[in-house]
Amino acid sequence: MLPAVMPTYNRLDLSFTHGKGAYLYATDGRRYLDFASGIAVNSLGHCHPHLVKALKDQAEKLWHTSNLYRVPEQEKLAKRLVDSTFADTVFFGNSGAEAMECAIKVARKYQSAKGHPEKARIIAVEGAFHGRTLTTLAAAGNKKYLDGFGPVAGGFDHVPFGNMNELRNAITPETGAIIVEPVQGEGGIRPASLDYLRQLRAVADEYDLLLVFDEVQCGVGRTGKLFAHEWAGVTPDVMAVAKGIGGGFPMGACLANEKAAAAMTYGTHGSTFGGNPLAMAVGNAVMDVVSDPAFLAQVDKVARDYWVKLEKLVARNPAVFEQVRGAGLMLGLKCVLPNGDVQTAFRNEGLLIVGAAENVVRILPPLNISATEVDESIQMMETAAQKLVS
Ligand SMILES: *Cc1c(COP(=O)(O)O)cnc(C)c1O
Repeated sequence: MLPAVMPTYNRLDLSFTHGKGAYLYATDGRRYLDFASGIAVNSLGHCHPHLVKALKDQAEKLWHTSNLYRVPEQEKLAKRLVDSTFADTVFFGNSGAEAMECAIKVARKYQSAKGHPEKARIIAVEGAFHGRTLTTLAAAGNKKYLDGFGPVAGGFDHVPFGNMNELRNAITPETGAIIVEPVQGEGGIRPASLDYLRQLRAVADEYDLLLVFDEVQCGVGRTGKLFAHEWAGVTPDVMAVAKGIGGGFPMGACLANEKAAAAMTYGTHGSTFGGNPLAMAVGNAVMDVVSDPAFLAQVDKVARDYWVKLEKLVARNPAVFEQVRGAGLMLGLKCVLPNGDVQTAFRNEGLLIVGAAENVVRILPPLNISATEVDESIQMMETAAQKLVS
């Protein structure tokens, strides 16, 4: 019989009663160190007091009014995002895929308003993930996810990630934009080289293409900068943000500069829920913490120490792990053994992580983890690795 919940996920038989900081408490009484963070969503861990307070305070005042009216909390968060990034304007939605849908619409509208409606094609890269709506699936071009869902939304061309020659060759008079994740998440924790990001900016300028970065997973402090592209010293024209920005409350945002968004006028886009007071209260609370330069410096420091320890772990266990990859606290271990087995072994020791493509396990801890929690995770990985080969 079909389960009441549509069985689209391969769920573990594991559920939780509560969480605190980096720890999750399971219904069977076990405690887990949660370095999956709800897939890079619980950016400040579970039940961060500042976020809980913001949510509770707002819950007693006002939840939702719709975008028929001004939403002061939304204006506040938009202003903060604008002040701390390349962007001049922000559209709020409820998820990463919606943020990407908005980014794609902004890119096409820009070209169309400039008198180039034919420039609706977008170059994306292999190994990308942009969400599960029909258009974001077409953008990523992953055949496995598109299979059976009818005609693939048109307008996307794909080139290998990191290859500038092929990207240049793919540009036609119909190309209007480029979409790239500065650090691929689902694709296996693959950071773009900083030089690649700079060259993308240059080629976009050369052909008047909009440069769109999908920072749904790598943004909001995850790499030790507020946004990952800051490491390269270049800015996109449009950026999709979600996951960590809500700290666990569903929200997404599409940020754009003035040039890109000039044609996004009244009536061009909308969302019933997007940017409602409850979501915005939490988003503002997340920003209170993560936009602090001292907080970001701490993320960077913890991440660098973690990297060194992971390198040693890999060196000690060459039959299990092959390589450390990533940026900041968006880390991956490329495995020798099947990543599913590694994930299970970690979990048996009490550590939760996430799988990814290329036989990688993703380590996406809360951004405010302590050195002690890092050490605890390394110890669990070590024990798991030893058990896997014994
Ligand atoms: C998770 C993710 C998305 C999709 O976000 P949803 O909230 O699941 O719609 C898009 N892009 C990237 C890079 C992601 O990691």
